Amino acid sequence: MAKIQELSEILANQIAAGEVIERPASVVKELIENAIDAGSTQIDILIEEAGLRKIQIIDNGVGIDSDEVLNAFKRHATSKIYSRDDLFRIRTLGFRGEALPSIASVSEITLETSTGSQQGTFVKLKGGQVIEERPNQARKGTTLTVENLFFNTPARLKYVKTLQTELANVTDIVNRMALSHPQIAFRLVHDGNQLTRTAGNGDLKQTLAGIYGVSTAKKMRKIEKEDLDFKISGYISLPEITRASRNYISIIINGRYIKNYLLNKAIIAGYRSKLMVGRFPIAVIEIDIDPLLIDVNVHPTKQEVRISKEKELMELIEAAINECLSGEQLIPEALGNL
Ligand code: ADP
Ligand code: MG
Repeated sequence: MAKIQELSEILANQIAAGEVIERPASVVKELIENAIDAGSTQIDILIEEAGLRKIQIIDNGVGIDSDEVLNAFKRHATSKIYSRDDLFRIRTLGFRGEALPSIASVSEITLETSTGSQQGTFVKLKGGQVIEERPNQARKGTTLTVENLFFNTPARLKYVKTLQTELANVTDIVNRMALSHPQIAFRLVHDGNQLTRTAGNGDLKQTLAGIYGVSTAKKMRKIEKEDLDFKISGYISLPEITRASRNYISIIINGRYIKNYLLNKAIIAGYRSKLMVGRFPIAVIEIDIDPLLIDVNVHPTKQEVRISKEKELMELIEAAINECLSGEQLIPEALGNL
């Protein structure tokens, strides 16, 4: 056997990138999460060739101090949690300190940032190595530009699907992030064409209209229900508006879009027999929970969470939907309104 040695930081980051950064949409997701955590009210996402050539995320958040910019690219470096206690009370989307070092290790990344109070910073890395750092005139906020993703990991590049599939994945994640944050104005532009635009005025129904169209949004109904542990709200489509896949269901817990099979099932169960076989509703369900009741630290991409009292939550969702739709049947003339 050869000698046991510690991996270099760059190699360790590339290995971590294998878990967190699967495709262009993963980069878009992580960078939008950072922009949201930075308190942005406007996030522009400009991509070229489905993100494989270029992904640029422009935010108007708090920015990063010049003397901390390089820390942001260090593994397990984060400004979001400091102690074990914080780990059980996560309110931010990020906390692992992995995204920037991972992305930087498999691309060419440029960061331009300013906190507004001082000179801004420009830094460029290639394959995880800093190749340029200098002061920069900049407005408050951060612009991250990722170019030539996977240029140094040919195996990963091969795994990437057609541009059409990658673009669909990017659009999907931007739309879910926009639905999770109606108070933020999102704009997605691909090769110069605007694909998504939301108003960012805090109104979920208007955000839905921006993403699924006005006529679909008009056929969606508000749900609201709470018990001692959970508060749920959102919009669900009337049974006449369905889709052929579950992809139009978004479950959001404390502002985080997550994937959860059982909660999906509860939503569908709430429709009772009103859905045709093989058809699924459009739904955005926001769930507010005490962070102590969920564990986000299950998977590096943070899209899976463990929920205490999951069964109680399923019953609450199912009941909220059932009540909403039963009300609709009692007053059919309300269907045409709104
Ligand atoms: P995490 O989000 O888990 O903390 P990241 O690697 O994604 O880890 O980011 C590292 C750190 O860089 C963040 O904790 C934050 O302090 C800073 N950062 C990253 N992106 C931005 C941004 N758009 N605006 C302000 N700060 C940012
Ligand atoms: Mg992050």
